[in-house]
Amino acid sequence: STLEQTLLSAIRTIPDYPKPGILFRDITTLLGDARAFRRAVDELVHPYSGTGVAKIAGIEARGFILGGAMAHQLSSGFVPIRKKGKLPHTTVRVAYSLEYGVDEMEMHTDAVQPGEKVILVDDLIATGGTAEGAVKLLKQMGADIVAACFVIDLPDLGGRKKLEALGVNVRTLVS
Ligand code: 5GP
Repeated sequence: STLEQTLLSAIRTIPDYPKPGILFRDITTLLGDARAFRRAVDELVHPYSGTGVAKIAGIEARGFILGGAMAHQLSSGFVPIRKKGKLPHTTVRVAYSLEYGVDEMEMHTDAVQPGEKVILVDDLIATGGTAEGAVKLLKQMGADIVAACFVIDLPDLGGRKKLEALGVNVRTLVS
């Protein structure tokens, strides 16, 4: 089957989660499917093999799972971008917008060196608020953001356009 069919059939949709009216795209089924997980990671890293990517930056928490696998495959380092208060060393912090209200995320100040090639990853992009926050942190540390990668794009919510307006190359596998 095609990559898109394999991935779409491995993603589970949960109605009314986390609240009524929301259709949640659950990737735990994709992660638990050996073939789908491998194909997703292979496809995410494919354009960047041998291009000198220094770090994969993953957004807590599902971006850690994808990012760890991508980092291994590209022989890159891994950098966690976490919700505030979770990282033990000196951090840079940014506020980012959620559907209702704001939260803050952090990255260690020594996690990325200026000019290093970095790929940002998360499971899904919706409004792009979360990824935009992560892009701000990486730019603040002088990272060269090669791309922002997501398994799932919810195009009606405009996240891709938001990142592209910041000059970030966006790669997604299914819409
Ligand atoms: P955004 O900030 O783009 O509006 O929302 C994206 C963030 O919320 C990502 O960190 C993503 O993991 C999470 N998210 C929002 N909706 C969903 C969903 O339906 N499924 C999954 N797996 N994550 C979601």
